[in-house]
Amino acid sequence: MARLLAFNAAELLRRPGTERLLDCTLTAAELGLADNRFTPDDAIEVHLRLESLNDGIVVVGSISVPWHGQCRRCLKPLAEVAVCDVDELYQTVVTNPEAFEIVDNQLDLSPMARELALLDAPDSPLCRPDCAGLCPVCGADSNQVLCGCAAPVVASQWAVLDQLKEQLGGNEI
Ligand SMILES: [Zn+2]
Ligand SMILES: [Zn+2]
Repeated sequence: MARLLAFNAAELLRRPGTERLLDCTLTAAELGLADNRFTPDDAIEVHLRLESLNDGIVVVGSISVPWHGQCRRCLKPLAEVAVCDVDELYQTVVTNPEAFEIVDNQLDLSPMARELALLDAPDSPLCRPDCAGLCPVCGADSNQVLCGCAAPVVASQWAVLDQLKEQLGGNEI
C-alpha cells in the first residue's frame, strides 16, 4: 500500500553502522488511514533516520499527521497536525519484545506509521484544555457568552467528568 515506506533492508543489515535518511510525503489514503479523523488527500510528512546495528535497524525521527475533529465540549471544528515521535527497533530475529520484525529483508515502516497516527490523532479532542463547553441548559457556547442559566458547567467540573470518563473506560458521558 505505502510503497514509499517499504524497502529492501539487506544492504543496511549487511553493514552495521550504516545510516539511511528517509524523507518523504505520502497521503493518508496511501498510508491506509481510513477513519474520519483523516482526509484521504492529507499530506503526511515522514522524516526518519535509519541506522543499522548488529542485530537490527533503529528508526528514529518524526511523522507529521494532519487530523480533523470536533471539540468534545463546544463542538468547534478542529484541524491540527499531530507530530508523532518515532523511536523503534526492527529485527530479523526478534529478541526485543518491543521490536518489529523484518521479514525476508523487507523493512516496511507503514504499519508502525499507521499505528502512531491512530494513537496520536485524538479521538475526542479539546479545542483547549480549559474549554468551557456548551451550556447544558440552553446550548450557548460558554467560552463566548455568559447565558446566565443556573449551574453552568465550569472547567473544573469538566475535569472531574473527564476523570470519571477515564475510570469508566473511555465511554462518552
Ligand atoms: Zn471547545
Ligand atoms: Zn445557558
